[in-house]
Amino acid sequence: MTSNVRYSVIVPVFNEEEVLRETYRRLSNVMSQTNDSYELIFIDDGSSDQSEQILTELCTQDQAVQSVHFSRNFGHQVAITAGMDLAQGDAIIVIDADLQDPPELILKMIDKWQEGYEVVYAKRTEREGETPFKRLTAAVFYRLLYRMTDVEIPVDTGDFRLIDRSVCEQMKDMKEQNRFVRGLVSWVGFRQTAIAYKREERWAGETKYPLKKMLKLSIDAITSFSYRPLKMATYLGWLLAGGSFSYLILVLLQAGFSEATVPGWASIISLILFFNGVLFIFLGLLGEYIGRIYDESKSRPLYIIKAHQNEPKNNLKHFT
Ligand code: UDP
Ligand code: MG
Repeated sequence: MTSNVRYSVIVPVFNEEEVLRETYRRLSNVMSQTNDSYELIFIDDGSSDQSEQILTELCTQDQAVQSVHFSRNFGHQVAITAGMDLAQGDAIIVIDADLQDPPELILKMIDKWQEGYEVVYAKRTEREGETPFKRLTAAVFYRLLYRMTDVEIPVDTGDFRLIDRSVCEQMKDMKEQNRFVRGLVSWVGFRQTAIAYKREERWAGETKYPLKKMLKLSIDAITSFSYRPLKMATYLGWLLAGGSFSYLILVLLQAGFSEATVPGWASIISLILFFNGVLFIFLGLLGEYIGRIYDESKSRPLYIIKAHQNEPKNNLKHFT
């Protein structure tokens, strides 16, 4: 398949009616400065506001815009994946819709790409306009992830990045159900480099990442790239078993050699509660991994597209 598109910009969209027009304006402004062909692929991840109508409007105005509509909300990471499946460019850029990632940085990414890097990611040196809670959880998450996994996933780096066609082709072969895209990109390898930037405040609207989605993302990230939580569970199990065994010996000695009767009710109850708690944590941990195996075994499609506007004619690709 040959396509003459040089750059593909992928924009995941979930209820972003307030920002979409501005995002489009800024992006097309930046992309036209490249003096090369480009496509802007907006992936509407099951929005329930006016996003769909706005995208339809943009598609009629500008043939460089494509809008892909999911049948429901499949999640940010899946939306990015769909974008990569559909992108035709030689370089693919992923950017959030809310303008927290400045589109102007794309030009710098393209420079790096032309120098020969296959992955150019944007590393946040500052974050503006986000709650202290979000900053703290993000900081902890990235560092925990870095320690836990064997793949070097750069800290403080979101999905804002440029990838070369060769990396994109590899990504398309990875059909994992519970995806952490930036981890997969790191896993692929090739020459990767970073550009530092300051993360802006959202241009409008509110975060579409409530605590629940953040938790899901972090658990996906860790379980996709590491068995270490399972190992830690084993170590802790040994430690506790060792501790309990020593205590047992102590109790036996006491019973055999001393007259002191131990009332002991409180200590027994607290030990039972404690060990039960630990047990349930480990069971839950096993469940997380087994649930993911279950997800893979069903091998359902990652997403369902209900409409694709301005779909390129030469698009021979299938989505699986
Ligand atoms: N998003 C999405 N599906 C979702 C949640 C978010 O496509 O289920 C998009 C959202 O529209 C935005 C990007 O993912 O373009 C990042 O989301 P957001 O800005 O809300 O996250 P934050 O920057 O607060 O972490
Ligand atoms: Mg955001």
